[in-house]
Amino acid sequence: MGTSLQVDRVRCEGFGMCAELLPEVIELDDWGYPIVRGGLLPEDLRDLAERAVEVCPVLALRLVPPERVRSALQPRSLAPHTVLRSHGGG
Ligand code: SF4
Repeated sequence: MGTSLQVDRVRCEGFGMCAELLPEVIELDDWGYPIVRGGLLPEDLRDLAERAVEVCPVLALRLVPPERVRSALQPRSLAPHTVLRSHGGG
């Protein structure tokens, strides 16, 4: 199993440099934000992926090692004791 390249969508500001470095894996959506194709990174693109991580001005890219890919892809859930309140009238 290989490494996965992941984008922090909150941090990313859409400068697009990562897609210029790694067009085989990253394309930009209509607003200039990256879409990472496929799940695992081909080994021959690893050096370029590391370079893309280094040049991202807001540190929004990261390489996830094989043993952490599965947990990194799991959606986060609310803690069991979290209470959601509405502030409607009354
Ligand atoms: S280089 Fe960083 S900020 Fe720019 S599009 Fe890629 S992930 Fe987003």
